[in-house]
Amino acid sequence: MTRHAIICGGGISGLTAGIYLGRMGWDVTVCEKDPELRTAGAGLNLWPNGIRVLEKIGLRQALENIGVFLNAYRTFSSNGEPIAVEDVSGWREKYGAPLYGVHRRNLSRMLSDALGQDKLRLGHELVSVQQDGSEAVCTFGNGETMRGDVVLGADGVTSVARNSVFGPQEFSADEQMRWRGLFNVADADADPNTEVEVWGTDGHFGCLPIGGGKAYWFAAADGLTQDVEEVVDFFGSWRGSLVPAVIAATDKSTIIRNSLRDLVRPLKNWSSGRITLAGDAAHPVLPGMAQGANQALEDVDVLCQCLGSYGSVESALAAYEGIRIAQVAPVIKASRALFDYEGQNEVAKGNKNPLFDRYHRLAERRVV
Ligand SMILES: Cc1cc2nc3c(=O)[nH]c(=O)nc-3n(C[C@H](O)[C@H](O)[C@H](O)COP(=O)(O)OP(=O)(O)OC[C@H]3O[C@@H](n4cnc5c(N)ncnc54)[C@H](O)[C@@H]3O)c2cc1C
Repeated sequence: MTRHAIICGGGISGLTAGIYLGRMGWDVTVCEKDPELRTAGAGLNLWPNGIRVLEKIGLRQALENIGVFLNAYRTFSSNGEPIAVEDVSGWREKYGAPLYGVHRRNLSRMLSDALGQDKLRLGHELVSVQQDGSEAVCTFGNGETMRGDVVLGADGVTSVARNSVFGPQEFSADEQMRWRGLFNVADADADPNTEVEVWGTDGHFGCLPIGGGKAYWFAAADGLTQDVEEVVDFFGSWRGSLVPAVIAATDKSTIIRNSLRDLVRPLKNWSSGRITLAGDAAHPVLPGMAQGANQALEDVDVLCQCLGSYGSVESALAAYEGIRIAQVAPVIKASRALFDYEGQNEVAKGNKNPLFDRYHRLAERRVV
């Protein structure tokens, strides 16, 4: 008998889970609260561990159509001194997939096309989820209810599914913001296949191409929480580096900010009976290692494999969380550590960007 999955949230986790389970023969409904899928946001850095999942479900060509394959990752000090160069051009051989830059809007469109509009319910805001005998039941703000064999809460950092099952959680309150903006690669004379990171004593800045001649930058610094003009002034003063040119090339209307939060105490469980969580709903993570979406994709892969190989949904969900909670924990910790700018500058003396060692050990789970 065909099994039915209700997936709450039409972000990267939810859409990918919908495609994956659909290809395994499940009947899938993805319920998104907003009247349209994400159109806002800047770019996203996809790493091999996430790309491998997208390629596994047949999206390699679609991804190549929208993304930019990166062949180098360069790190500089804020006055432009080179700190490290990582040649990532051979990552398909090394890790089975390359490093990519994509525009979030294009990724969202690519995933929803692969899912199929018939499986997507927009304007469906989950308000609660419960178990009812041999089914899980979702209630939506529009008054609808839906019953399924499994419910996946893929509804992001403020997850209603998580709150329904595990209650409200305490978030870190560092009041750190990450700022992002879009620019044309040619206007800043940037390399079209290189990601760049720039470290200062009290902040950092990075940028990468995302396709269509566009690139995005991300930046955070102590005390820069409110004002766009302060951000422009602060990073515009990093002379000697490429940052002032990138800032000058940025269309100010594209600059956005997000508060950065993870959980004070990561969840000990993600599942209860037929209900489980994935992505930011399960494990909000700071973007220090650019791993939030990549970890979300890994969640989906393990979840779907478990659902395909265990006899009961409950045992599949228990196995899934058993594998993934242990894998994500060190990534969350290391992502936070990369917001320690002084610590990073210490490492800079060794001419290394610690990101690559951490990625290798913690995301690829390989011995150095
Ligand atoms: C500034 C910044 C930069 C980042 N950069 C990177 C990066 O370069 N690489 C990387 O891998 N990660 C990055 N991340 C992390 C990444 O964006 C997230 O980890 C990823 O988007 C999580 O995807 P998700 O699908 O789990 O959640 P989301 O993307 O948050 O999607 C959740 C979806 O659920 C919907 N929803 C919410 N509530 C409900 C409800 N009640 N009912 C129904 N639908 C609901 C939302 O509208 C949304 O569409 C970054 C994060 C930030 C803040």
